[in-house]
Amino acid sequence: MTGQVAWAGKPGYTLRAVTTATKPSPKNAAVIGAGPAGLIAAETLARAGVAVTIHDRMPSVGRKFLLAGRGGLNLTHSEPRDRFLTRYGAIEPLLARAIEHFPPETLRAWADELGQETFVGSSGRVFPKAMKASPLLRAWLRRLDGRGVRFALRHRWLGWDGAGRLRFAQGERESIVQADVTILALGGASCPRLGSDAAWADLLAARGVAIAPLKPSNCGFTVAWSEAMRRFEGVPLKRIALTFGERSVRGEALITREGIEGGGVYALSAPLRDAVARDSAATLHIDLRPDLAVAALAEKLAAPRGKQSLSNVLRKALKLPPAATALLHEATTARGRPLTSLSADEVAALIKAVPVHLTGVQPVATAISTAGGISFDALDAHFMLKAVPGVFAAGEMLDWEAPTGGYLLQACFATGVAAAEGALKWLSPAK
Ligand SMILES: Cc1cc2nc3c(=O)[nH]c(=O)nc-3n(C[C@H](O)[C@H](O)[C@H](O)COP(=O)(O)OP(=O)(O)OC[C@H]3O[C@@H](n4cnc5c(N)ncnc54)[C@H](O)[C@@H]3O)c2cc1C
Repeated sequence: MTGQVAWAGKPGYTLRAVTTATKPSPKNAAVIGAGPAGLIAAETLARAGVAVTIHDRMPSVGRKFLLAGRGGLNLTHSEPRDRFLTRYGAIEPLLARAIEHFPPETLRAWADELGQETFVGSSGRVFPKAMKASPLLRAWLRRLDGRGVRFALRHRWLGWDGAGRLRFAQGERESIVQADVTILALGGASCPRLGSDAAWADLLAARGVAIAPLKPSNCGFTVAWSEAMRRFEGVPLKRIALTFGERSVRGEALITREGIEGGGVYALSAPLRDAVARDSAATLHIDLRPDLAVAALAEKLAAPRGKQSLSNVLRKALKLPPAATALLHEATTARGRPLTSLSADEVAALIKAVPVHLTGVQPVATAISTAGGISFDALDAHFMLKAVPGVFAAGEMLDWEAPTGGYLLQACFATGVAAAEGALKWLSPAK
């Protein structure tokens, strides 16, 4: 069946060819999912001479990748490898091997080759100079096109038919595709409007593939704000430090109507999420002036203030924005003591560690990324599903998580390459 697509229909469905190879090509691969993991897998296969068709349920490719580009497209990170790998927590050896094989330097060289030179920002994060994904994606698609990669868009993968062939729906119609090898790169469960709705989880579980429960990662949390605090919806708290348990990070947070989110919160979101799941709540502490010691704050607060109100002192002498002051009021009101009744030392201590009581985790659909997914135990050493030989998996649908900082895309690219190389091995006669 090499290089061919077979068709079959179901009552009520119209048959329509998606792609038919003109001559028996060496081998054909179906890549399902046109995000970064699927596209790099397709490129790897096409470079090796495999006839590749990329299927995606959406009308255009790389929608989440393009959205990531709105934030500058943090492709990867420049920190030393041993530190880099710790970002994946208890890293699975298979993931570590994939990243060692396609590391940040290689990803940067790859982007360079597409005419998208990268640079290292002050935080060590790596971005394309264009600070967006669209030029890179355009150049990438041109290159894939030049290598003969075909696209079957608006094709929603439905699983397999009884003969092990791939089933796709295009609206009311259904098509069946026979591929020599398949790569699944269907993404996680965040931002389903961009395509990744994780419907694959049930399809794979039905085939005996172990799936770790999908959970929000780099996500926001709910807080039972007072009406006064809700007035600060959409206001960022900048240059703060956030602490949960032993971990502290510098960053910022955004007050939302329902709670709190933003870079600093995301960085702590994995332990916070697990704590909320365990204890139904968790307390995050925010240092509103991380560059000033508590004694220096207390001194400023204790200075004679004349007719100035405490709010004025907080704003003028301590440079706290109104949202930060509101957070202080919120914390003291919750304790039944107005902020104005606190001593200078008490206010200073509160500024250094204002508690924010998290009552829940925002749904995965609103998260930046997804934890959980295809268990590494369900994969062989080449990213092939042990339960479905000839089917490989890559990207965010695998059971790993990482903070923002370029670690997500790096792992998607690296596993996409690893799965494609696994597929090439599978296709080779000496497999
Ligand atoms: C707002 C935002 C900003 C981000 N910024 C960054 C950043 O700067 N740096 C970083 O490292 N990461 C960032 N990320 C995360 C990063 O974009 C994702 O981790 C990455 O896109 C995942 O790649 P993927 O190829 O695994 O899946 P996806 O990009 O989600 O692609 C999966 C594809 O599969 C398709 N699909 C799903 N189900 C089906 C089906 N049944 N049939 C056919 N097709 C299907 C989808 O339509 C989609 O095109 C950001 C995420 C968000 C939401």
